[in-house]
Amino acid sequence: MGIYEELGVPRLINAMGTYTLYGGSLMSSQTLADINDAASSFVDLRLLQKKAGMAIAELTHNEAAYITCGAAAGVYLSLLAAISFHHGKKLKYLKKEDFENSQVILFRSHRSPYDIVFEQTHVTTIELAYSNHIPDSPLEDIEAAVTKNTVAIYFLESGWVAPGAPSLEITLQAAKKHHIPVILDAAAMLPPVENLWNYGKMGVDLTIFSGGKDLHGPQASGLIVGKQNLIDLLYESAFPVHGYGRFLKVGKEEIIGIYSAIKQYLAMDHTARSACSEAQVELACSMLNSSSCYHAQRDYPNEAGQPVPRILVTIQNPLLDTVKLSRYLMDGTTKIVVSIADDRHFYLNPMTMTIAETRLVCEKLLKINVETGG
Ligand SMILES: *Cc1c(COP(=O)(O)O)cnc(C)c1O
Repeated sequence: MGIYEELGVPRLINAMGTYTLYGGSLMSSQTLADINDAASSFVDLRLLQKKAGMAIAELTHNEAAYITCGAAAGVYLSLLAAISFHHGKKLKYLKKEDFENSQVILFRSHRSPYDIVFEQTHVTTIELAYSNHIPDSPLEDIEAAVTKNTVAIYFLESGWVAPGAPSLEITLQAAKKHHIPVILDAAAMLPPVENLWNYGKMGVDLTIFSGGKDLHGPQASGLIVGKQNLIDLLYESAFPVHGYGRFLKVGKEEIIGIYSAIKQYLAMDHTARSACSEAQVELACSMLNSSSCYHAQRDYPNEAGQPVPRILVTIQNPLLDTVKLSRYLMDGTTKIVVSIADDRHFYLNPMTMTIAETRLVCEKLLKINVETGG
């Protein structure tokens, strides 16, 4: 009996993608071996964080890097660094009003449940642009919003953002002119692997990635890359320092796990991986289209904006809808989660499946057709 079975928590085939709720991604055996090694010794956590940060910065062509317990934590810590930088003081010397008076410029269409960090840090948010109205002069709008209290501009990159925000280039242009740091939440923007350095090359000051999505690091890990002066401030406030970031703990296992995963991500043959995703899409389309129950087609890019194809499936059987389908897929020994779009459409994502699993998912989907008489 495995450890999940002992607790009565069923294992799933994840046809949804790198969703945190279903486990994000899986670590390689190399990463697990490195974590095992890390877990077997005591080390100085401050030295480990520093050395791992330096190594990751070099590997990813950034000035500096910092490991956190997730991308959401990374946004919080980045904001703290920007506040500290703006006031020219360590956080512990700042008063409540200093936090409240710190202004962060952001775009309404970039709001998401992850940005509760603005409330947690007590900053004032200055919201620009509407999702149904592309501004005529975005550069001017951003510049007009800058005040002496602006500590950062926050930008979100994801496949699911609504339109309306200016481009990252325009945002950076305004930020550079006024010497305001740009914090970029790019949690799920891997692949492509080049994003690990491209944003920094564009001039983004701090870019945040999740370690538990496509990087295949520990699920509770994240990465901040960017400017040395800002990252240096993290050593004053983030774990293990007793301060604002102390509760966002990263252990030796997470630090070594994400370091190991990043090395492998850089060495990975991304072209071969892409070909594997395409093969899964082809397999699923040919299997599912052999039945009149479904119509399956390649869809690109995926919902996170990653350059990876996925499979859009339309249910053609009138006896079936996605509610019944989901219930059926979670029933029995092979339990499968898929991404539901609406009552007749769902997606299968090859990123978190092997070819064998893609086949299993399609076999189960084809069985449902028989059982509902479609
Ligand atoms: C997934 C995601 C996060 C959270 O990442 P964690 O590593 O789970 O904390 C934050 N922002 C965006 C845009 C995301 O997609």
